Amino acid sequence: MAEIRVENLHKAFGEFVAVRDSTFTVADGEFFVMLGPSGCGKTTTLRMVAGLELPTSGRILLGGGDVTFNRAAARDIAFVFQLFALYPHMNVRQNIGFPLKCAGMSRSEIRARVEETARFLRIDHLLDQPVSRLAGGDRQRVALGRAIVRRPMAFLMDEPLGTLDTEFRDLMVRELRELHLRIKATTVYVTHDQLEAMAMADKIAVMSRGIIEQFGTPQEIYDRPASMFVADFIGSPPMNFLAFRGGLRKGAASVRVNGADIALPEIREDRADGELALGVRPEYIRFDDASRLRGAVFGAEYLGTTQIVTVDTAHGQVKARLPADIAVNPGENVGLAFRGEKLSLFDKSSGRAIHTALIDGARHG
Ligand code: ATP
Repeated sequence: MAEIRVENLHKAFGEFVAVRDSTFTVADGEFFVMLGPSGCGKTTTLRMVAGLELPTSGRILLGGGDVTFNRAAARDIAFVFQLFALYPHMNVRQNIGFPLKCAGMSRSEIRARVEETARFLRIDHLLDQPVSRLAGGDRQRVALGRAIVRRPMAFLMDEPLGTLDTEFRDLMVRELRELHLRIKATTVYVTHDQLEAMAMADKIAVMSRGIIEQFGTPQEIYDRPASMFVADFIGSPPMNFLAFRGGLRKGAASVRVNGADIALPEIREDRADGELALGVRPEYIRFDDASRLRGAVFGAEYLGTTQIVTVDTAHGQVKARLPADIAVNPGENVGLAFRGEKLSLFDKSSGRAIHTALIDGARHG
């Protein structure tokens, strides 16, 4: 079993707190992504799990055993930095076998393991080729082979696709996902790229300033963001926020925004009058002549099958993703309608989501 459990993990560098009271569990065989902007504490968390950094406080359990104070080498974990960096003077066999050679394994054992790994990755016919002669996709497979040949309990990957161009990045995202589905090794993957995270993760932790803002499946995080930070960080264009002032009654199924009643999942908490924000993703907006929520078209960005139409409203600019064949004219007055079950509601001062029937149903970590 290779469950990773992090309990109340805290890391301070002098006065500066890089990771604050972080608690999460990565289930055996799960692909877990830590996602967040630069400096939010992803790498520091990963380095503590790997044993490269000691926590200020908290515990790390691997396969049920407390490894908090174990050296990195004593944890059965493979730490992968950049997957694409191969040793150019070695052939495929030597590249894949290198970690085993460093670990002092016998030549016959290395040979057997390398050949098994190469068969698994369908590159066994290339074993004696120099890596310089390989096509891009095969080079990536060799790099993956070198990472998996040790058969560790878990993989930790820190922005492994960091400097790849888009084409290779897409290829590697597919390869990594496919590989994961086949070997089902517990994986912790760090990235600031939401598309990588959404495409690969079973579970995502979205981090900001040392704190896990939300923990959940890609769909939970996209559909039910726990905070305005998460809603803004995920999605392109990100979620729109319509600011308004109002109170909420527990059990209500709509909010009144500038005279328009907007249907929402049932509200689970009472709120006195305050600053609120209605969150709506661009794809859940459509034009509706009958709507009282209106604005003027500012412009449109043509994307082929869809277009992003920007509308100036009394609550700020709203971006709607609409079919490309809808005619829009700058300055035109349009009504906006939203898909009620897809809306979020936030307390604008704290930035946290206000509980609705749907948010209560989603899992938070
Ligand atoms: P990036 O993608 O930029 O690496 P990150 O989310 O991985 O971002 P960390 O590398 O974990 O962020 O760093 C979190 C914060 O802790 C940063 O502000 C960084 O400057 C600080 N930090 C990291 N290591 C140290 C250190 N050894 N001494 C002092 N501060 C550090």
